[in-house]
Amino acid sequence: MTQLHPHLEPVFDDVLRRNPGEAEFHQAVREVFESLGPVVAKRPDYVDAQILHRIVEPERQIIFRVPWIDDSGVVQINRGFRVQFNSALGPYKGGLRFHPSVYLGIIKFLGFEQIFKNSLTGLPIGGGKGGSDFDPKGRSDAEIMRFCQSFMTELSSHIGQYTDVPAGDIGVGGRELGYMFGQYKRLTNAYESGVLTGKGPTWGGSQVRKEATGYGTIYFLDQVLQSKGESFEGKRVVVSGSGNVAIYAIEKVQQLGGTVIAASDSAGYVVDERGIDLELLKEIKEVRRGRISEYVDARPHASFSSSGTIWSVPCDIAVPCATQNELDEDDAVALVEHGVTVVGEGANMPATQAAARVFASAGVAFVPGKAANAGGVATSALEMQQNASRDSWSFEHTDARLHEIMKGIHDRCAETADEYGRPGDYVAGANIAGFNRVADAMLALGVI
Ligand code: NDP
Repeated sequence: MTQLHPHLEPVFDDVLRRNPGEAEFHQAVREVFESLGPVVAKRPDYVDAQILHRIVEPERQIIFRVPWIDDSGVVQINRGFRVQFNSALGPYKGGLRFHPSVYLGIIKFLGFEQIFKNSLTGLPIGGGKGGSDFDPKGRSDAEIMRFCQSFMTELSSHIGQYTDVPAGDIGVGGRELGYMFGQYKRLTNAYESGVLTGKGPTWGGSQVRKEATGYGTIYFLDQVLQSKGESFEGKRVVVSGSGNVAIYAIEKVQQLGGTVIAASDSAGYVVDERGIDLELLKEIKEVRRGRISEYVDARPHASFSSSGTIWSVPCDIAVPCATQNELDEDDAVALVEHGVTVVGEGANMPATQAAARVFASAGVAFVPGKAANAGGVATSALEMQQNASRDSWSFEHTDARLHEIMKGIHDRCAETADEYGRPGDYVAGANIAGFNRVADAMLALGVI
């Protein structure tokens, strides 16, 4: 572990003491703090105003009961969360995650990351995150609808277009957002489009929102490659996951001339040396809501493994797009041994800190999620703009805006890394650039 600056160490100790048992939150704070030494050395005014103590404490945390009735008539109880972390730059903005692993520590880690990610986009959005320990897997549409309606019945009191604007994340896509928006509309008797993003294009959604996180990640990595005089053309790429982010990352890699040879879900991974058949993958995952193991039924030359790790597959570029801590130190060592040169986090914090250190010492260009995957929330902010002006932009126009925003984030990270004496260090660049913008706004707003 990197030693923290003497001003940061006591704040981090406080985070450990005040948030016991929240390992992912501790990890996310540590990761940011390890980059901030040069910032606190340069900006005593941040220290004096206790910006660091304030930024690690959510402005508000809401935990609530979500009762619903399953298809057999049995009452089920889940727990719902919304952490409104920081609104210095704008209304809280961040997705909802439905997954059995969800607890307060996961939502706080995601909310904390979201503050800096949203800041990096340059758009007026604060950071928040929410979700539930509800497991949508294997549930009928009717059960999903009843759960979403119950979840929104409580959440609706805490959100609004000027307050807090949720979106999707793991387990929450267009179907779930539709049920939640429907319930919000019913409860408030208002068609308040700006209260949620990721909506369908026929009911206030933006073109490109579905594709945005995956496309944006690949636009960012394309900038990294261009800065090395390279491109995706002819590159072997491994993308983990097969959900929303992974599918559209794969699509953009293919459009840019790369070959994605492996993808996964939580039960295993497939390798297809001829290149993943994206139409087939979409059919399995988006239409049938099936498992990735079904891929080999239609493509017998491909292989499926239910054990081992997708990171053992040799590649030039690795794009983890599933979940936190899915790529550990051993995986990073294997990737480096097989010649990986670029790693970009499509998911939030998929690489452990030990893995990130392996990449750094091997000279691999490693792009953290808060920079690489910011295209999703950036396009959500574009959706908010369209809702506010009652407008609807074309796919091409929205995609061009996304591309421009990702290039801007890339350049901001690279320039900040240079300015702080860490050329090529996208982790330091993202953390410092993201932090400074929020810290300046917090200073301007006084002690609140
Ligand atoms: P989806 O639910 O669409 O897909 C998640 C994928 O990851 C599935 O393939 C899933 O497999 C796999 N996965 C989930 N949990 C685990 C686990 N514990 N172990 C192994 N595999 C797992 O989610 P998204 O694609 O939307 O999100 C993926 C990541 O990207 C998350 O980290 C999310 O926070 C991040 N992200 C998403 C954004 C968005 O716009 N959607 C924006 C920015 C970041 P299975 O089906 O078997 O569970």
